[in-house]
Amino acid sequence: MHELGDLYQEIILDHYKKPRNAGRLEQPTCSANGDNPLCGDKIAVTVKTKGDALEDIRWTGAGCAISTASASLMSEAVKGKTKAEIDALFEKFHAMVTGHGSSEGLDKLEVFSGVSEFPVRVKCASLAWHTLKAALEGQKDPVSTE
Ligand code: ZN
Repeated sequence: MHELGDLYQEIILDHYKKPRNAGRLEQPTCSANGDNPLCGDKIAVTVKTKGDALEDIRWTGAGCAISTASASLMSEAVKGKTKAEIDALFEKFHAMVTGHGSSEGLDKLEVFSGVSEFPVRVKCASLAWHTLKAALEGQKDPVSTE
């Protein structure tokens, strides 16, 4: 964790210690599980959609600080957004963490910009997003980053 900037590190640690939207929805519209064997991160996402919009999201997970904080920050970022907006956001996020795009328009998600310097962490930071995407697309098989 020392590799990331101080301010970013503080936000990431805050979300790691107090994850937002943690838990499981009683009657989700869709759900998915994700696994990052490289680091040992696991996540389960439950989602409630209304029309094309993501109305509510909860997730449970066990993993490193980056994967946990990413799931927490993602859950805040995607609430109320449409599937198309979430796809666009994930694309921007993925471009940023892989060093192929700027953090412009990503708001708080910018805290993961430092991840681009540590390729092994990219999977930690994007696991929750891949899992959410799988849930929204109705994918039944668990997601693996490998
Ligand atoms: Zn990890």
